[in-house]
Amino acid sequence: MDDALITPRQRKKVVLLGSTGSIGRSTLEVARLLPERIELVGLAANGSVEALAAQVRETGVKHVALHDASRVGELRALLPAGVEILAGPAGLAELATLEGADMVLVAIVGTAGLQPALAAIEAGKDLAVASKEILVMAGEIVTAAAARKGVKLLPVDREHNAIFQCLDGHRGGEREVSRLVLTASGGPFRTWPAERLAEVTLAQALKHPTWEMGRKITIDSATLFNKGLEMIEARWLFGIGMERIDVVVHPQSIVHSMVEFVDGSVLAQLSRTDMCFPIQYALTWPERLAGGLRPLDFGQLAKLEFEEPRHDDFPALGLAREAGLTGGTLPAVFNAANEVAVEAFVAGAIRFPDIWRVVGETMGRHEVTAASSLAAVIEADGWARRVARVACGD
Ligand code: NDP
Repeated sequence: MDDALITPRQRKKVVLLGSTGSIGRSTLEVARLLPERIELVGLAANGSVEALAAQVRETGVKHVALHDASRVGELRALLPAGVEILAGPAGLAELATLEGADMVLVAIVGTAGLQPALAAIEAGKDLAVASKEILVMAGEIVTAAAARKGVKLLPVDREHNAIFQCLDGHRGGEREVSRLVLTASGGPFRTWPAERLAEVTLAQALKHPTWEMGRKITIDSATLFNKGLEMIEARWLFGIGMERIDVVVHPQSIVHSMVEFVDGSVLAQLSRTDMCFPIQYALTWPERLAGGLRPLDFGQLAKLEFEEPRHDDFPALGLAREAGLTGGTLPAVFNAANEVAVEAFVAGAIRFPDIWRVVGETMGRHEVTAASSLAAVIEADGWARRVARVACGD
């Protein structure tokens, strides 16, 4: 489309949940690069009132939500008059249905984004999904609701965004795709001997070799649970069987993921390690716009390496495959147990390899049921959290 034909009315109006986090801040950066095409109309956070207030002043949004209702007074004092503040989980869900918004980007850490995501879909908003946990926990429910309401699910996670780009415009669908290959950086302990993993400290686990991200996903990247969550996320986003989703370690994080087709051809998407790339594509799809992100400099790329994951030493991928193949409530249990185990590791209550143990033990004790109702998923999530806490020594 000729840029001259684009009027301000055609700007995409976006509600951003988790605006003060790593993905949230990158989304603001993308909105700054494309002010004539992206308009933020609502922002939400948990309790970072000062950062949220600064974002409101910058973007001029008139609607915000704060999960921690006890801090609304503090936020009110920092905001200009005329800004509506919604509070608590219900406030987040209400913001997700904001009249006039075209899209909701969910970038809340963990599963707290599930109810707002469902509310957005019910209100007919397209959903840009960064919070992979919601698709792992309730993929069947979220994708069925999106199909029923005719809304788009746009992946923000770089791997899924890459696959989405490789599949874009591809009509043959599942018949022509032989497998999806997710790339993993391998995390900070990729080359560590197995026996040293018990010594891993929190500071070491929080030092990712290629990405600056929030705490939870950084630890998930170190255990490879992040890639496990992404295998299940891919299963729902692309409607493909778990047996056709593979992982390859690629330490440079330049190839973001690949699609192998039945004729043996492989398409890959590459860019610099900057989350603004997938965020921009999710927000501007189906268009590609010149937003000013710097492309790759191939002369500067020393090498691109690929290797098999160390499945025995990092069992997260095997557990994810088991959860995804079994289906039902097991992926929700896999996800919830991991959240509890990560919290326990951060608190110093368990060692690094215990994260795998806690998730494996919790999954092993679960009696799987169907996951077609939200009540069943929430019950399985709660059950897993209780069992995992005991496995963490609580
Ligand atoms: P961060 O920890 O950096 O940020 C989390 C954001 O969520 C913050 O804005 C936080 O608000 C908000 N938040 C947390 N809990 C709640 C809640 N209960 N209600 C409302 N808001 C809440 O996380 P990331 O940005 O790294 O990750 C966000 C999601 O995106 C995760 O699911 C992650 O897996 C996914 N993702 C992240 C990538 C990355 O590069 N960071 C890449 C791909 C996916 P506050 O500041 O007030 O605490």
